[in-house]
Amino acid sequence: FSPRKIGIIGSGLIGRSWAMIFASADYKVVVYDNSAAQLSNAKEEIDKQLHGLSEQNLLRGDIPVQKQIENIEFTTNFDACTKGAKYIQECIPELIDLKRKIFNDLDNVMSDESIVGSSTSAIPSSRFTNGLKHKSRMLVVHPTNPPYYVPLTELVPAPWTDSDVVDEVYRLMQEIRQVPVKLTKEVYGFVLPRVHHAVLMESWKMVQDGIISIEDVDKVMSDGLGTRYAFMGPLETRHLNFKGGFKDGCKPHVWEVSNDSGPNARLEGPLLEIIQEDFNKRIPLETLAERRAWRDTRIAALSKFKRDM
Ligand code: NAD
Repeated sequence: FSPRKIGIIGSGLIGRSWAMIFASADYKVVVYDNSAAQLSNAKEEIDKQLHGLSEQNLLRGDIPVQKQIENIEFTTNFDACTKGAKYIQECIPELIDLKRKIFNDLDNVMSDESIVGSSTSAIPSSRFTNGLKHKSRMLVVHPTNPPYYVPLTELVPAPWTDSDVVDEVYRLMQEIRQVPVKLTKEVYGFVLPRVHHAVLMESWKMVQDGIISIEDVDKVMSDGLGTRYAFMGPLETRHLNFKGGFKDGCKPHVWEVSNDSGPNARLEGPLLEIIQEDFNKRIPLETLAERRAWRDTRIAALSKFKRDM
């Protein structure tokens, strides 16, 4: 058992990010993928990204870029990645059968002191850790995209996850400068997606009712609420905005306004086509990668600002 060894399973977008984050905190990271081509692509990509981040002064952690790169090994050997690792982060595709198979394999090789976190965006871990020997040491550790810049990490225990295990992962996430939040139980969709969906739902309904245009409703977040939300959440915002604090902020009309917007809608039908068409004109699908890169550079600058302030 090695307390400085981290195993990463899957070297796609999320696995690569986790590898970079752990390496920045001087952990020895071993990345496993069952595709040699993916692995060599990941190695190249991580090398390029870390050098780029270093040049732009956006590198996480306090150790030199070369040391961070050397902290990451790549392997197609499952045991080499998992044996003796303090912590293993699973980052394979979002398919329940794949998750169940890999967690079963992990159960057979992990040490009794290891912990395994799944990056799954939506599948409760009880659906793939049920019946395993080490199920009390397994949970969901859900990152936010792009994880290198957006530190929020949801820890979602299964009913049988040991609370000490959740606490240990919480401390580990703090150590690597993620921002962990703990759920007390499994809930469909986890928390960040639920909050996100509530905003999406309200925006959809107002466009549907002809109250505001597609472009303008997005500005309500990017140039309005979002600027505050980069620093504090909706509950603290309420507390700060009213003379008597939070209680005052809840009195007026939150309930009435929320009910006025009517029942939740299914995101389908003619409006779906209209919104897609609108985006196709403004951000054609062939320019999505470019626009994502634009987004990531801005989020990176904001995360640096928050770190330095
Ligand atoms: P991805 O498709 O980019 O990468 C998956 C990697 O897993 C690939 O390199 C693939 O070769 C490898 N793989 C497939 N089967 C494997 C196996 N049996 N053993 C080892 N490696 C295997 O996926 P991603 O976007 O990195 O997502 C990974 C997980 O993270 C998913 O569960 C996803 O829901 C979750 N997640 C994704 C995002 C996001 O925005 N992409 C955000 C949060 C969480």
